[in-house]
Amino acid sequence: MKCKKCNNGVLINDLCNDHFIEYFENIVKKTIKEYNLIEKDDKIIVATSGGKDSITILYLLNKFYNNVEALCIDEGIKGYRSKTLLTLKQFCKEYNIKLNVYSYKKEFGHSLDYFMDLISKYNKIKKLNIKPCTICGIFRRYMINKYSTGFDKSATGHNLDDESQAILMNLLKNQIPILARFGPLTGISNENLFVPRIKPLYFLSEKEILTYSYLKKFDLFYTECPYVPQAFRAEVRDNLNEISKSKTNEIKLNIVNNFLEISKKLKSKYKDTIQINYCTICNIATNKKICNKCELIEKINMVKKECKL
Ligand code: SF4
Repeated sequence: MKCKKCNNGVLINDLCNDHFIEYFENIVKKTIKEYNLIEKDDKIIVATSGGKDSITILYLLNKFYNNVEALCIDEGIKGYRSKTLLTLKQFCKEYNIKLNVYSYKKEFGHSLDYFMDLISKYNKIKKLNIKPCTICGIFRRYMINKYSTGFDKSATGHNLDDESQAILMNLLKNQIPILARFGPLTGISNENLFVPRIKPLYFLSEKEILTYSYLKKFDLFYTECPYVPQAFRAEVRDNLNEISKSKTNEIKLNIVNNFLEISKKLKSKYKDTIQINYCTICNIATNKKICNKCELIEKINMVKKECKL
């Protein structure tokens, strides 16, 4: 089979290696342009884990723009984060990108593994249903906001698979006001409270990113976080992959495109329901009395006390 643009052999999507790279980079540029994600002189920080998605977006934004730095949050996940962090350090050195690393241990006193050990001890006495991804999500979001201050945009490597899963998860959990905030550009930029988050890989699938990172010969550590099987996302991901297995990207694109079609209406409907307050404990902007991070720290402190730690 020949590439649809030249006579070379096909690799993926009816394209040869070179034309696939061109197609991939054009989709990223088109997403940035169509959704107004980046201004020419923007100072960009890329939240990266050292995995293929965030390395790919770090590489591309550094290729297209002048003012790009990397941010890595080390949650402290044994046998996983230390390896991806090593990959990231090597990558940033090779491409001369400033890397900023912050850890849960320094920020919150302990690693994610420690918090999960603590909660599993507590669960032997009483029940506290906190999943690793809940802790990880709340603490990481807080730290990304905190350490993105001073930048114009904070970019992530979220892809078509992540976004179609997240849309379904919020529908299944009846969390429409949360869903209303989704899209290639998120954050309350006009109030200057959070650095706007951008997702330039929004329309590219996991498989396409894997192919691109392989063709670009990025030296990556291909593995999954050991906590993934405990996540609701894993269930949604496996079911969605099963449904879409013979349709390449069609089903996932249908989910995100249909969502984007109604997202303006959702945003305007739920705009006034987002009340910005300041956390009574740490004073950061939140839509509640106490922010999610402080609420979680209070729960952890209660667990520590009851476990006599
Ligand atoms: Fe954190 Fe969950 Fe992702 Fe692991 S899978 S890095 S615990 S959010």
